[in-house]
Amino acid sequence: MRFLEGKSASAGICRGTAYLFSVPELKFEPGVIEDTDIEGQRLEKAFSDTFNELSLIKSGLSESLGEEYGHIFRAQMTMAEDEEFLKDTVDIILEEKCCAEQALTAIYDGYSELFASLGEDDYNRQRLADLTDVFKRILRNLLGIQEVSLAGVPKGSIVMAEDLLPSDTAMMNRNNVLGIISEKGGVTSHVAILAKSLGIPAAVGVANAMSEADQAMEVLLDTSDFEKASVCLNPDNEKRASFLTKMEDYNRRKREILLNKDLEPVTLDGKKVELSINIGSIEELESGLEFGAKSIGLLRTEFFFLGSQSLPDEEKQFRFYRTAAEKMAPGMVVIRTLDIGGDKEVSCFSLPKEDNPFLGLRGIRVSLKYRDMFKTQLRAIMRAAAYGNVKVMFPMVADVSEFLLAKEIIAEAVGELKAEGEVYDSDLEAGVMVETPAAVLLTDLLTRKADFVSIGTNDLTQYVLCADRINENVSSYYRLFSPAVFRALKMTAENAHQNGRWAGICGELGGMSLAIPVLVGLGIDELSMNARQLPEAVSIIRKLNYEECRLAADKVLSMETEEEIKDYLQSKF
Ligand code: PEP
Ligand code: MG
Repeated sequence: MRFLEGKSASAGICRGTAYLFSVPELKFEPGVIEDTDIEGQRLEKAFSDTFNELSLIKSGLSESLGEEYGHIFRAQMTMAEDEEFLKDTVDIILEEKCCAEQALTAIYDGYSELFASLGEDDYNRQRLADLTDVFKRILRNLLGIQEVSLAGVPKGSIVMAEDLLPSDTAMMNRNNVLGIISEKGGVTSHVAILAKSLGIPAAVGVANAMSEADQAMEVLLDTSDFEKASVCLNPDNEKRASFLTKMEDYNRRKREILLNKDLEPVTLDGKKVELSINIGSIEELESGLEFGAKSIGLLRTEFFFLGSQSLPDEEKQFRFYRTAAEKMAPGMVVIRTLDIGGDKEVSCFSLPKEDNPFLGLRGIRVSLKYRDMFKTQLRAIMRAAAYGNVKVMFPMVADVSEFLLAKEIIAEAVGELKAEGEVYDSDLEAGVMVETPAAVLLTDLLTRKADFVSIGTNDLTQYVLCADRINENVSSYYRLFSPAVFRALKMTAENAHQNGRWAGICGELGGMSLAIPVLVGLGIDELSMNARQLPEAVSIIRKLNYEECRLAADKVLSMETEEEIKDYLQSKF
């Protein structure tokens, strides 16, 4: 029996078997070879193994997620059975007398240079992303390395990894995963957000998880504590028995809280707080309805792009946004425009590699650089707005001019839609995400132009405290309850109210039980959270007294440290 610790990223308790996920390194020794025939045969076999692998994945995805997802792999399959591609590679083996791995790499390098010289258009980017995937797959097969993919994760697994990218989890067979344990990552990393929305317990920052665990070993994961996650590997009978009792109690309490889901989120002295949910897909919207969701405060559109191998066109996006609008009507749906960069990569749109991506091309900066893509998204959103209560919101804004530019592009899109005779709503409200310190300091000006603001505390915390949200080395500096962050929230809410606008929170802080009383006291009008947190939020708010919350908020604003704030809130509420 061994014990590990980390941070709770998604609450829950589960028992399962370890599934160690690691991406193998694809290394080979270049050099001259004697028998070119053998190399040719190895290459042919690697091509056909790759094709077979891809067709298995394609049919698996079509079955579990629908034909649309299966088609993602069609382009790659075509490459894996491309006679020319194979022949060109064999020719290099013959000419250079090199191993198949070396020949394949040379061909790949040639193609990538070609794509790069063709310019940065979406089509080229997609082709290159497909080619890179196929190349890695063929190379892995040549090297005889087994594929480790989360698509094939067995039932009852607790996935353990050094790190998990959003694209890894997009491939994950979610029905088979009970929990997630990762050595890297912070509590507001996107893996944490995804785990929360799937209702899967997750622990991050668990040092040595991969070296301590063995494949298929029994694992007990407890993330029910608000901060600390505990992991037990290979438990003895006594530990297992006490763990299972705790798990049953925890699940019973969750079922009881669920009974609150349709009650009004109003304090004892009559202050109403709007509660909304954060989603990234229609599946999440549907499951959100079961937890009492009445509106969407954050629709993260990048997850729709993430599941797609090619850039979704206007029609595809429109159908997605319209479905969300219709299913939620008359409740509002705040659609956030594409927020890629930072730790969010989408394979259908590759961004340049940067040394410091969280301070790089992210959010609205990407949209303003690739305007056609942005306009396509805005057109789709405006068309969907005709079918419900849709608002649009821009991420990572740091200057009033960025918001104004975005509005200009909206105006251009309106002109086009009008000329084309499309059905659309041009009066949709446009808001700003407050997630940079600059945006906080400019909220008095921004809320003169924008219709609302929603505070992205996940990013705001990292930028205010200069502590990377996914870097476990600085996770102790990433303080969600920092007095500096609360002061930023106060300033934002006050400035918004002075201009007659509402201020919401759509970062993870908004759904945290310990934070809710002080957020209400600070005058935050709307809290948007993971749907599974809604019933508990309702029950907390119904026990609060607004006046008391205001006094508590004042007290918190005078405190010096996060510990002091947490201790105070824990003892008071
Ligand atoms: C945030 O930064 O708080 C936020 C809601 O956006 P994301 O987590 O998607 O970056
Ligand atoms: Mg953000």
